[in-house]
Amino acid sequence: MTTGAVTVPVYQTSTYQQDGIGKPRGYEYSRTGNPTRQALEQALASLEGGRYGLAFASGVAATTAVFQLLRPGDQVVAGDDLYGGTYRLLERVYRPWGLHVDYADVTDPAAFAASIKPNTRMIWIETPTNPLLKIADIASLATIARKSKALLVVDSTFASPYFQRPLELGAHIVVHSTTKYLGGHSDTIGGVVVLSEEEAYQQTKFYQNAAGAVPGPWDCWLILRGIKTLAVRMREHERNALHLARLLEKHPKVERVYYPGLESHPQHKLAQRQMSGFSGMISFEIAGGYPAVEQFVSRLKLFLLAESLGGVESLVCYPPKMTHSALDPAERKRRGIRDNLIRLSVGIEHIADLEADLLGALGE
Ligand SMILES: *Cc1c(COP(=O)(O)O)cnc(C)c1O
Repeated sequence: MTTGAVTVPVYQTSTYQQDGIGKPRGYEYSRTGNPTRQALEQALASLEGGRYGLAFASGVAATTAVFQLLRPGDQVVAGDDLYGGTYRLLERVYRPWGLHVDYADVTDPAAFAASIKPNTRMIWIETPTNPLLKIADIASLATIARKSKALLVVDSTFASPYFQRPLELGAHIVVHSTTKYLGGHSDTIGGVVVLSEEEAYQQTKFYQNAAGAVPGPWDCWLILRGIKTLAVRMREHERNALHLARLLEKHPKVERVYYPGLESHPQHKLAQRQMSGFSGMISFEIAGGYPAVEQFVSRLKLFLLAESLGGVESLVCYPPKMTHSALDPAERKRRGIRDNLIRLSVGIEHIADLEADLLGALGE
């Protein structure tokens, strides 16, 4: 503002000089507020069409902050396909704390309606889900939540605000791991909560300062920089993913492909209605069980074996032993995560290189 710099400065400061006792110039201490973080929070709120954004040190910290809107004895109904860390938080932190946790088939709004109890305060879903790329009907779930005076929270990390804006469909709160598409370059960890309702905002903002899991100014700056190219990156992620999903679907060594952009996806029509694109995540089941998974992964050259997603470089992940290792084998089976499931985060490299890498690893 003062210099005309076209980028937001990194305010690398922990504290701020005050003009007199009780006369701060708008900032007092960087856990409470920091101009770089505030710029990020405003950018994220604007992308989601919400009034307020609150940035956190990780997606999990953002998730924790939202669950803090609840009290022991309250019930949350969560979708049955979830990021492993969210499941771990619910089962190992919040259930012992006194939260009542139930799960419902994320593709079936009636299953959520049937799980509502007098103490239900929140419906928590991801869509598309991790790792099975299921699609939840946000508008229908918002109606169910409103009827029972519960909050509908959508973890929209897999879609990014470029392809999906849950608040416009009736959700109360949107959560992102900004580590993923929003940051976009696999170089920082962060999370955000976006919402419009005053009371929930004030409570979450209080918690952000009181519990203190805030991102530093440099991390905020990196995410702000990532956001500038979100649109172009998302279009490339999707273009590459759609091409590879179609290729995998026809491949004899592939038993099943999960990608909401395929006509064969059970919620393809719903995805078309509530999203403007299908993003860059694909899961598939390989023929030949676990030995085939190991062989495939070891033959890949371009796709890097790593957790996380949403960066410009392509990654491959084996959910049962990586992102979803918090679920024991029986729980994984119940949720449909098979031992031959592979998850791809398709990057923005040249499609011919990605295709050659996949086909080579599948053994053609
Ligand atoms: C990665 C991820 C999270 C957790 O975010 P972190 O930044 O790793 O703490 C939450 N939800 C989804 C869908 C994710 O992919």
